[in-house]
Amino acid sequence: MLELASLKNLLTQPQHIVITTHHKPDGDAMGSSLGLYNYLIQQGHHVQVIAPTDYPDFLSWMPGNEEVIIYTEHTDESAKLIAAADLIFCLDFNNLSRINDMGELVRQSNAYKVMIDHHLEPEDFDDFRHWDINACATAQLVYDFIANLLEHKELINADVATCLYTGIMTDSASFRLPNTTSAVHRVVADLIDAGGVNWRIHELVYNSANENRLRFLGHCLTNCLEILPEFNTAIIVVGKQDIEKYSVNTGDTEGIVNYALSIASIRLAAFIVEREDKVKLSLRSKGDFPANDICKKYFSGGGHRNAAGGQSTDSLVDVVKQFKLILPEYKKLLIQ
Ligand code: 5GP
Ligand code: MN
Repeated sequence: MLELASLKNLLTQPQHIVITTHHKPDGDAMGSSLGLYNYLIQQGHHVQVIAPTDYPDFLSWMPGNEEVIIYTEHTDESAKLIAAADLIFCLDFNNLSRINDMGELVRQSNAYKVMIDHHLEPEDFDDFRHWDINACATAQLVYDFIANLLEHKELINADVATCLYTGIMTDSASFRLPNTTSAVHRVVADLIDAGGVNWRIHELVYNSANENRLRFLGHCLTNCLEILPEFNTAIIVVGKQDIEKYSVNTGDTEGIVNYALSIASIRLAAFIVEREDKVKLSLRSKGDFPANDICKKYFSGGGHRNAAGGQSTDSLVDVVKQFKLILPEYKKLLIQ
């Protein structure tokens, strides 16, 4: 274990630091990582952000993005950095399986491991933990870590603020989810005061799509959406041929599931997409319906109550069949 005082002390000297986050990083994953990066570099540390896989273009503009390396494209260099690190920050995940092959490298590294995260059921691999499942985003916890634990609020500059704002905005579905408390809004206000330009960040993340993405969304809503009224559930099922036809890139499918959830009666929405080697499920729910329960129990995944994900190596047709067969088990919760 590493006490806060020892961690603080360690950070008074320049260290070799690796920051990593979950595979297929989302806005909170990259926002938290680059927020922390922009804080740490001000103190002379050697800091490297390593993303396990690539991530969407609409997240590739944050300050420090040009310094990020992607593990799958720089495997040897990443392995060396992880092995030589004094400290590894693990952000927005709490199980080493979430960083694919990098997991074992992190486990084996002699570095101190710091976990900052808001997911359920953390694996015990870390030396220091700032973990709270009530946080709306890991970026909120990174803010708290810098401002309150390390007492460096004055080092939250415009770059740090921009990245952390992005993390909170994306993980709270633009400040809409139940965990967007007044405390979160106070943090967000601080981030705007520190130089995060809220409207500009919104433009960069949400209004930067290309025509293909919009056509693909139209296709999903017109041709792939199925409503299951007896379960207050909506599913959108997308096959590999559509992914190719619309040249769908990393991140282009993000958020589409929310359109299904926008129907008044719908309590559970699922986006089920056929990827290269597996079928991926993205679930969203309203209120207290536990979307993560379905992902954990049936689809080797997990996540939060209202936003969860999983996967299967079965065929797309079989996954959809299985999903529909599961619904009666949850009927009571879905129709209340
Ligand atoms: P998404 O639907 O955007 O892929 O994921 C929604 C939420 O579920 C995210 O918070 C993500 O961390 C979590 N999640 C997605 N896939 C998995 C998975 O395979 N395992 C676990 N434990 N969580 C997942
Ligand atoms: Mn998150």
